Amino acid sequence: MNTYDVAIVGGGPAGLSAATVLGRMRRNVVLIDAGEPVNAAAAHSQGFFTRDGESPLRLLELGRAEAASYGTRIIDDYVTEIVPGGSFTIVTAGGERLSGNQVVLTTGVRMEFPDIIGLEKHWGNDVAHCPFCHGWELRDRPTVMTMTKPMEIHKAFMIAELTDQLTVLIATDVDMDAVDQASIDKLVALGVSLRHGDAREFVSEGGALSGVELADGSLIPATGAYISPSIAGVSPLAVALNLDLNDTPMGLAIATDAAGRTSMPGVWATGQAADTSMQIVTSAAGGYKLAAEIFRSLL
Ligand SMILES: Cc1cc2nc3c(=O)[nH]c(=O)nc-3n(C[C@H](O)[C@H](O)[C@H](O)COP(=O)(O)OP(=O)(O)OC[C@H]3O[C@@H](n4cnc5c(N)ncnc54)[C@H](O)[C@@H]3O)c2cc1C
Repeated sequence: MNTYDVAIVGGGPAGLSAATVLGRMRRNVVLIDAGEPVNAAAAHSQGFFTRDGESPLRLLELGRAEAASYGTRIIDDYVTEIVPGGSFTIVTAGGERLSGNQVVLTTGVRMEFPDIIGLEKHWGNDVAHCPFCHGWELRDRPTVMTMTKPMEIHKAFMIAELTDQLTVLIATDVDMDAVDQASIDKLVALGVSLRHGDAREFVSEGGALSGVELADGSLIPATGAYISPSIAGVSPLAVALNLDLNDTPMGLAIATDAAGRTSMPGVWATGQAADTSMQIVTSAAGGYKLAAEIFRSLL
């Protein structure tokens, strides 16, 4: 069985950045990646310093080449089990068994989507979830934000900064007593339309979004929309290792200290797996920081 100084599970911006930094410090690194980054559906990724607008998959291709150039072994596979011991045994779906003295979990998050017809066709492009990622591209458009939880009202303020044609579509099962009335009043004063109803379909015209059809059959014309997918828990690997977790308003995340140490010595985590609010550049930064700490810890 091959033994590595560090085994990294997950090859998004966080894992690839950690692999590159550790490789440059001459650590023997393996990175195992299932190849399902959360932003795969997006044609462009925005806001990464010097790489604004690059395709997410192209960014990963560049990141893989950089990590490999410093000796990281990259395996395309899914890790099914991590067995603690003197070092950690990593088992993959493809039947590989590896040993890592340190383990890094950069497994990202998995999203659960609302059941709206046509979502898959538009997701990550004219239907988005994050104003930082898509707000500029969707600016000034007639836009619908679906609201399925009271706390999502706050996202409307961000979107209202980017377009003055915003409709907030409040799902019929949202408990309006739990929605902050002052926020509603403020949104109305800003010119935001509020409407109650359930989104049934994202309607297209020529491949682009043209509106949101409601369960009652009415249509809100829109060429941009925001939804709020929920985060489907942390990686099963973190659960099986019994790591401490943080229950945040945006979902469960692996608890770490500032350097990325989890509650189990030798297991580290960063990127969205540890902080669901992270973006590409902050996930990559987390990978860099954690790599430096691991390197120091091995001296
Ligand atoms: C539609 C969309 C658009 C976005 N646009 C932007 C944008 O424009 N700008 C921006 O900064 N951010 C954007 N984001 C956020 C950005 O994608 C994330 O912040 C970033 O990808 C997180 O990086 P990560 O390395 O933590 O996880 P990921 O990039 O999700 O990578 C995690 C990797 O781990 C792998 N993995 C998981 N479990 C295992 C396992 N058991 N074994 C092996 N591999 C495993 C996954 O397959 C995946 O390849 C967007 C997100 C979405 C959903």
